[in-house]
Amino acid sequence: MYPLQTLHTFGLPACAQEIEYIHSLAEAKQLMDKLAGRSYYILGEGSNTVFLEDFAGSILKIAIKGIALHESAEHYELHVGAGENWHALIEWCLARDIYGFENLALIPGTVGAAPIQNIGAYGVEVEQFIHSVDYLCLASGEVKSLTHKECRFGYRDSIFKQQLAGQFVIGMVKFRLPKSWQANARYAELKTIQNPSAEEIFAKVVEMRQAKLPDPKIIGNAGSFFKNPIIGLTLYQHLQQRHHELPSYPVNAKQVKIPAAWLIDKLGFKGKQQGGICCHVSQPLVLTNDGSGTGEALLTLARQIKQAVKQEFGIELENEVLLVSNNGLVHV
Ligand SMILES: Cc1cc2nc3c(=O)[nH]c(=O)nc-3n(C[C@H](O)[C@H](O)[C@H](O)COP(=O)(O)OP(=O)(O)OC[C@H]3O[C@@H](n4cnc5c(N)ncnc54)[C@H](O)[C@@H]3O)c2cc1C
Repeated sequence: MYPLQTLHTFGLPACAQEIEYIHSLAEAKQLMDKLAGRSYYILGEGSNTVFLEDFAGSILKIAIKGIALHESAEHYELHVGAGENWHALIEWCLARDIYGFENLALIPGTVGAAPIQNIGAYGVEVEQFIHSVDYLCLASGEVKSLTHKECRFGYRDSIFKQQLAGQFVIGMVKFRLPKSWQANARYAELKTIQNPSAEEIFAKVVEMRQAKLPDPKIIGNAGSFFKNPIIGLTLYQHLQQRHHELPSYPVNAKQVKIPAAWLIDKLGFKGKQQGGICCHVSQPLVLTNDGSGTGEALLTLARQIKQAVKQEFGIELENEVLLVSNNGLVHV
């Protein structure tokens, strides 16, 4: 059995039957042929994955490396291996005066996982810079490429979570960043800097994240546990009558996004602790593991939160984190 505790940022004790490292899509194809019919889980840096218990299968850890830079008159084009670290890529770019990614500083994880849930923070989503994604199609065994449009990006969403779910191994992400950079400083705390440079935005984002979010190297967590729910205007207006201060962000003419942290805070879960699992005191959307937590304790607290939100607000929370049980993914 192979220990997984250090391979996922939530740090629950769990093991897998086997771990294989994938260095190329050709290697991925060979492994998939070998595994035919057996259980496996593809793993980046495990910052959006929680192993709830021992996994009865193989872990395929993405270790595809490499950054290639191409330039045209107007753009930088970067071809980046799926196993590169996301934050290290931003630093690599800043050192070469290539700007655009800075609002997404300090998001843990690999480059290959970034398009899957269209990572986002401080007013920017990674899709803005994605030109195309190369992947191994598990149905045909061929390496294919999807353009930005074909990736069907949405809020924490893409084709990889929908139509292609479970049918791909991403090998490379191709980014296109305009040389004519413009700061994206619309987010409240970034507005405080006058004419910010990319380096200043990067430094501010790092500072804000370090102040607000628990560092997984110190206390186990997997970032936001639940997605921010998107609800219809009718429900929103109904809820506003009871909760005048209910915050919301417009999504389209018919829907708004509600901060799940607000709902959880309102119900008094902030700081609630049981069985080594805690609803974080300053960011209730994050559940943490003090080192003694178990998969069962995590599911219990997460289900209490989900049930209370449903009962009070009529809103169905969905886990953003991928919860892996003995034989595959489960939902709260
Ligand atoms: C403290 C903290 C803060 C966070 N903040 C943010 C934030 O601000 N915004 C945000 O969007 N997210 C955030 N996250 C979530 C997380 O960082 C992202 O989801 C990240 O992209 C996950 O990368 P990973 O390599 O760790 O993915 P993993 O957890 O290893 O994998 C995630 C999913 O992608 C699949 N996968 C990974 N690589 C590949 C591949 N090459 N091919 C096929 N499938 C693959 C896995 O099977 C799994 O389904 C945060 C997490 C933490 C712990």
